[in-house]
Amino acid sequence: MHVNPIKLAIVVPCYNEEEVLPETNRRLLALLCKLHALGLVNNGSCVHYVDDGSKDKTWPLIEELAAGDTRVHGIKLSGNRGHQNALLSGLLSVEGDAIVSIDADLQDDIAVIENMVREFLGGAEVVYGVRDSRQTDTGFKRNTALMYYGLMKKMGVDLVHNHADFRLLGRRAVEALRQFGEVNMFLRGIVPLIGYRAATVKYDRAERFAGVSKYPLRKMLAFAAEGVTSFSIVPLRLITLLGFLVSGFSFAMILFVIYGTLVLKAVIPGWASSVVPIYFLGGIQLLSIGILGEYVAKIYMETKQRPRYFIEKII
Ligand code: UDP
Ligand code: MG
Repeated sequence: MHVNPIKLAIVVPCYNEEEVLPETNRRLLALLCKLHALGLVNNGSCVHYVDDGSKDKTWPLIEELAAGDTRVHGIKLSGNRGHQNALLSGLLSVEGDAIVSIDADLQDDIAVIENMVREFLGGAEVVYGVRDSRQTDTGFKRNTALMYYGLMKKMGVDLVHNHADFRLLGRRAVEALRQFGEVNMFLRGIVPLIGYRAATVKYDRAERFAGVSKYPLRKMLAFAAEGVTSFSIVPLRLITLLGFLVSGFSFAMILFVIYGTLVLKAVIPGWASSVVPIYFLGGIQLLSIGILGEYVAKIYMETKQRPRYFIEKII
């Protein structure tokens, strides 16, 4: 159990977010003031912006914000390492009794951080921000997300429904996170594995305040595939099952052909029975090799044990 006031750290990954950053900063600092007035957080509570190799003025802006307020800090990565790595660099390098991670674009409701802190004080080590409505997301994004959650669940991966990376992690949860060795961290899947007491808080997801999404469809698909191969070997099992089914089917076909030739003396029109399986098996084999390849690629990437990120500067 924790007693208030706690030292709260807020980690904000930023990639080309110059348009929203001043507003985000204004609102986050206002929130810290409010939580401080309520006696929930102490003076040492801070906001940490992680610049994920932005190409616009994000970093100079962070420097400016940091110069203007002692509660504002910045971490500059040496290049663009992706949302998850930016987040992780913040989580693993800042101090605090609890760390809240939130996107820079103000889609997540800053006000519910208060509820997160209260849940933490009530004994939860992990508090998930869960979107109550996704009205502002496109129908396409909503539906694909729903399918994806369902698919992951079928494969034995429990993701918190409608939860992205807006969450509070207590110090113990962060230290637990540090012990996961995989280079590609799929945080949404890993955090539930930590197993400490968890709670959820609901919020409405808003429109992006300014700027455009940094997750184009291409990145979204890559991220989704990452989630599957990082957590589940079900696709591999499916190949085996498919192999059995197809082999069984072929075997039955062979019996049928022998029976037709010897007993029925029927002339079997050979085209369909020889050409169709060639295509069919060719397709299955290619698909299977592809899926195997995904895992081999994964092993290849993970065995290299490359560092996830380099911090260039901390202010
Ligand atoms: N982001 C990042 N590195 C990247 C892409 C995105 O740090 O390579 C940050 C981005 O600045 C934002 C958060 O990750 O704070 C989520 O990105 P975005 O809002 O564009 O994704 P969406 O909400 O559209 O899925
Ligand atoms: Mg967003």
